[in-house]
Amino acid sequence: MKEPKVHVGILFEPQIEFILLNPYRINGMEISGKQVVTYNEGRILWNGRLYDELLFEPVNEATDAFELLDVTIGINFHWERKEDQRFLGSLKIIVENKKLTGINVIHVEDYLTSVISSEMSATASLELLEAHAVISRSWLLAQIHKNKEITETQTEYSAFTQTDEELIRWYDREDHTRFDVCADDHCQRYQGITRASTEIVKQAIAATRGQVLTSDGKICDARFSKCCGGAFEEFQYCWEDVKYPYLTKQRDWSKSTTSYKLPATNAMQNDSAAPVAGSSSLVADSPLPDLTQEAKAEHWIRTSPEAFCNTTDKKVLSQVLNNYDQETTDFYRWKVVYTQEELSALILKRSGIDYGQIIDLVPIARGTSGRLWKLKIVGTKKTLTIGKELEIRRTLSTSHLYSSAFVVDKEDISPEGIPARFILTGAGWGHGVGLCQIGAAVMGEQGYKYDAILLHYYIGASIEKLYE
Ligand SMILES: [Zn+2]
Ligand SMILES: [Zn+2]
Repeated sequence: MKEPKVHVGILFEPQIEFILLNPYRINGMEISGKQVVTYNEGRILWNGRLYDELLFEPVNEATDAFELLDVTIGINFHWERKEDQRFLGSLKIIVENKKLTGINVIHVEDYLTSVISSEMSATASLELLEAHAVISRSWLLAQIHKNKEITETQTEYSAFTQTDEELIRWYDREDHTRFDVCADDHCQRYQGITRASTEIVKQAIAATRGQVLTSDGKICDARFSKCCGGAFEEFQYCWEDVKYPYLTKQRDWSKSTTSYKLPATNAMQNDSAAPVAGSSSLVADSPLPDLTQEAKAEHWIRTSPEAFCNTTDKKVLSQVLNNYDQETTDFYRWKVVYTQEELSALILKRSGIDYGQIIDLVPIARGTSGRLWKLKIVGTKKTLTIGKELEIRRTLSTSHLYSSAFVVDKEDISPEGIPARFILTGAGWGHGVGLCQIGAAVMGEQGYKYDAILLHYYIGASIEKLYE
């Protein structure tokens, strides 16, 4: 297999303006300079003629670049604005939904360099960046290989089962149909070569060139989240009811701290929770409890068990958290307090269901990390069990609750049984399936190699080189 190219949908406008900074080939001609293409009754108007599709290809692939003018970035965010962006590779123009779509066709490794440079902090360790490069490449090649039979172009799809007592819903990303990935947060934010890529990222991409995670001959669905909370969640408790062998329960901790660890050259000397080479007895004594059992989950969440991601080391956290805020270190274990008024108003607003006053939040079913995937909301007007984890997190927060691994305390319960306050004590940030970014950052700092990090989180998977 040769290095594949990825088709990235960049902009969707009735008219697209761009500058070919070097000579580009199209229909046997060489052209350069400013170009304008306009949507015209289902076709593309360019230089006075109509086309169904246009492809501008660089004469010198390694260096030639073009600039797209007025690309909207941060769509639907408060900082939405337009900027000119610069790209390597080809520019393809197609007609879609009565507009033109500008697509950048680019080598996979160039795309990854850009994406990882803008997503990851420049302070991240090489091992963490290498692990991320393999995950991003796996995800990207899975998108490219996907059979494109889906005709709808929603950005998210959900599936649900509903009875009088239960509403269980899960959400996942919808794939694109006319290109592989978009340039927005829906897929991965991509700005071409508008901003310089980081040296250490280039190194991490080169060192892992062509490598992806595979299982049973297929590219893995390499999910990841911010912080697992000490134990891995399994796929079926968050999304479709499918069990992937490499996304399975385990403590976020290594039993063999001495076997696949490098000499502790850059180990975190100050972190007393970090394992020290040669003293792995801590772990043998502490296997993962069955967190699907309520009592065990409650103990787990109310305590702070050792785990790679159980850290408050600011150096490590700043490698993973975008716009890192010094205050936000309490996500391994966290607390949220709601008054009765706040909680009942919040649930009404977020779910559109009027439960009346909230009497109780009852855990019904938990996954392998202690995350709730079924929660019963008991109100004065209505009682309903909801799930899965994202539905629970969206219902109980104005944005997303850190995670659905929480226990509930009620305070000042009135004679009628109405609590005045609810205290949610929780563990972790995100869905907890696959790689735990904080844990992986700690492993990188402790000197674990990128392949050891990946195989810790994607159990039994292989790392395969798909092309040279
Ligand atoms: Zn997308
Ligand atoms: Zn973790």
